[in-house]
Amino acid sequence: MDWYNPSDTDIPKGHFIDGQFMSFNDDTAVDVICPSTGKAYAQLNYASADTVEQALSQAHQAFRAGTWASMAPRERAKYLFKWAELIEKEQAYLAQLESLGSSRPYHEVLQWDIPYVVDCLRFFAELSDKHGGYVGATQQNRLGMVISQPYGVIGAITPWNFPMSMLMWKVGPALAAGNAVVLKPSEMTPFTSVYLAKLAVDAGIPANLFNVVQGDGKTVGQAICEHSLVGKVTFTGSTATGAAIMSTCAIKGPKPSTLELGGKSPQIVFADADIEKTARTVAKAITGNAGQVCVSGSRLIIHQDIAEEFSQQVMAHFSQLKTGSTWEKQTTLPPVISAGQAQRIESIVSQSIAQGAELLCGGDLISQGGSFFTPTLLAVKDKANCAVREEIFGPVLTMQTFDSDEQAWELASHETYGLAAGIHTQNIQRALTGMREIEAGSVWINRYGRSFDHIMPTGGFKQSGIGKDVGVEAFQANLKTKSVLIDF
Ligand code: NAD
Repeated sequence: MDWYNPSDTDIPKGHFIDGQFMSFNDDTAVDVICPSTGKAYAQLNYASADTVEQALSQAHQAFRAGTWASMAPRERAKYLFKWAELIEKEQAYLAQLESLGSSRPYHEVLQWDIPYVVDCLRFFAELSDKHGGYVGATQQNRLGMVISQPYGVIGAITPWNFPMSMLMWKVGPALAAGNAVVLKPSEMTPFTSVYLAKLAVDAGIPANLFNVVQGDGKTVGQAICEHSLVGKVTFTGSTATGAAIMSTCAIKGPKPSTLELGGKSPQIVFADADIEKTARTVAKAITGNAGQVCVSGSRLIIHQDIAEEFSQQVMAHFSQLKTGSTWEKQTTLPPVISAGQAQRIESIVSQSIAQGAELLCGGDLISQGGSFFTPTLLAVKDKANCAVREEIFGPVLTMQTFDSDEQAWELASHETYGLAAGIHTQNIQRALTGMREIEAGSVWINRYGRSFDHIMPTGGFKQSGIGKDVGVEAFQANLKTKSVLIDF
């Protein structure tokens, strides 16, 4: 049984610039592959340098025109609320388009992604008029004001794993703070972004304020990052790309950037945890979206006394998952985004075994049109094992055991990443010690994963990122501070 017929889906064409879908004479046309079938379902023209220039200059004009930036913030919020309403209204189509082109199952997009995107947008809309500056302590015959104002054009670059949610992390706060935006979505999942931009214009947001250009990272993404009209870059993706973007921003600016990068997050399970509930949580945290989540709980760190029983329960959950297309009702384990990524997962698992890991279950790449990877559990003794060190971005969980709290914290600490961590225990003292001890931007105790509490900022420590998305911090990050002195 299918939720919808994939061949019935209308694909929005081209870039979205100045309120219109546009196809230019851009040279490169590439196939866009459906992860569920492994076949092309559309073609994408990568933006030429002229197209990028046009999008940026439209956004710049929109900002300079001042209609948006100088509008009363409360008014601006009304347009953003209207946009949220239109996204809700078109949720069935958006869910179809998102699930066709990505690894997100249709029903999950409807139940999670769309409400998340809409809620996140409303959160930022509400912040539009809830910030301000302050008056500094200056000498008596002087007034010192610290005010904030938008950057101008924000260059936004997003990954393929949650295309609409990642867009809203960037565009929601940027627009709410009064900026214009040029977005480049991942070339692997390009289409929901242009449709969201169209809905923004339908909501009455100025046509040239939010523009989307399609293309790859190395040319189109880079062209955005290095352009002098871009006041700030906001990026979500891998650590390697984040480093390249930061370097572009430094050399061609310098200009600021917010970077949300990779992770290798631990889930620490103590012997006093609720085993049944925690096993379910741990299994879900590594198999959701087939492990293609930046905060996937990919390293199980477990007390040795419960490791055997706990791992059996995790594997029992793994065995219940069903692979399938994103539009099939029975699918609980969606495809890996591409055949290349599936092969990379397989290769890391093989290397890990060659380096001494014990394969407890899974490890199979299934090619049935799309590429699927069976949920995998690897028992690892050596912290230097590649499956512990590298972000795999697939349903692969490593298991390491400890026999003291100190050893648990030591194993949890990762040499490279610090995005998120889970602690499972009934002991409040232990939980709070871990909360302080662990170097990660988000710590979840007796739960795992983000929630709809958009007040909670998200972002990484170490090489997992710089700056925050979501929360008041993300809104503030779209404003720059100005000092004003007046003598009287
Ligand atoms: P990626 O880094 O390969 O690509 C991300 C985006 O950057 C794409 O749009 C790509 O075209 C663009 N890009 C690539 N090279 C570029 C360059 N030189 N200049 C400008 N743009 C460039 O990442 P991906 O494979 O799409 O996404 C998966 C990664 O994203 C994982 O590492 C995951 O952990 C990370 N991620 C992090 C978070 C977070 O909140 N920290 C959230 C989601 C995904």
